[in-house]
Amino acid sequence: MTTTNDAQAGKVVYSALKPTGELTLGNYIGALKTMAALTQRHPCYYTVADLHALTVDNVPAELRRRSLDFAALFIAAGLSPDRATIFIQSHVRQHAELAWALNCYTQFGEARRMTQFKDKSAKAPQNVNVGLFAYPTLMAADILLYQADYVPVGKDQQQHVELARTVAERFNNRYSPTFTLPECLFPKEGGAKIYSLTEPTGKMGKTESDENGTVFLLDTEDAVMKKFKRAVTDSDGEIRFDRANKPGVSNLLTIYSALSGKTVGEAEAALAGAGYAALKETVGQCVAAALRPIQDTYKTLIADKTGLETILKEGAQKASYAAAKTLNKVYKKVGLLQL
Ligand code: AMP
Repeated sequence: MTTTNDAQAGKVVYSALKPTGELTLGNYIGALKTMAALTQRHPCYYTVADLHALTVDNVPAELRRRSLDFAALFIAAGLSPDRATIFIQSHVRQHAELAWALNCYTQFGEARRMTQFKDKSAKAPQNVNVGLFAYPTLMAADILLYQADYVPVGKDQQQHVELARTVAERFNNRYSPTFTLPECLFPKEGGAKIYSLTEPTGKMGKTESDENGTVFLLDTEDAVMKKFKRAVTDSDGEIRFDRANKPGVSNLLTIYSALSGKTVGEAEAALAGAGYAALKETVGQCVAAALRPIQDTYKTLIADKTGLETILKEGAQKASYAAAKTLNKVYKKVGLLQL
């Protein structure tokens, strides 16, 4: 298992976030912070995965608005367009084209085994579309187009990255070396999973139902403080990390540790004996302070729509160049006539 600590400098990184729901503190701590750090040592391709978003029901105007918002928040969270290629997935047509080709090199049985497909189709039985089933081959195309070595993801996406690797290996063996074999990149020490503030045994997610349990990146300071004030703790009054018996307090310590740069042990020591009200206040303020510069940059970016669109056009152009190289090779090898 490769972690962000032992990733080899210079190797290509690809990652994407799907613009469904609004970006959360969980996305920031669990994904964006790591993605930003990786831009220091790696060529990075970072995508707003709007084609993947079509697998669930969307209001078209909302999807458009969110795609732009996600791009602005990527940049505001530290994914600098000077160091990373930032673009919208549908702006690089090769994603959909390679996905089709890869569909023909992926077995039905392989796709059927994907747990995300099983989970999502059980949760939304009214819309089990073919796109949802083919999600992993589009994701394989995303990764393989850029010859990515590393894909920073949560554990939930590991199975999809492994399928991308299997399909790439099959293609390379059948024709000749075409794709770099990608591997997952996990945050060091297993990474910080952030839980809901109101149900601290469940993930803080962007499409979870309880808004009070989720801190969104664009929440006002007032909303952030209110959410932390209401955060569920326990009745023993002791500030100590114990995920099994004290999930609420442990979650607050994890958030504080991730944003303050202190280890969980240091956070425990700094806050020991403070009382839960003070703990919630401290963590709330720490989160509000971390979100402030992100929100300020976001506001500047979103106010200059032309500037933001220029960044995304340039990103798409750079990405298309790399993607076209890979797709042309694939089309040639599989026997599509080129004039
Ligand atoms: P999702 O929002 O589930 O599509 O996930 C997008 C990315 O954010 C993935 O890399 C997840 O692992 C990460 N992520 C989402 N929610 C959390 C969370 N509550 N804690 C940590 N990482 C998260």
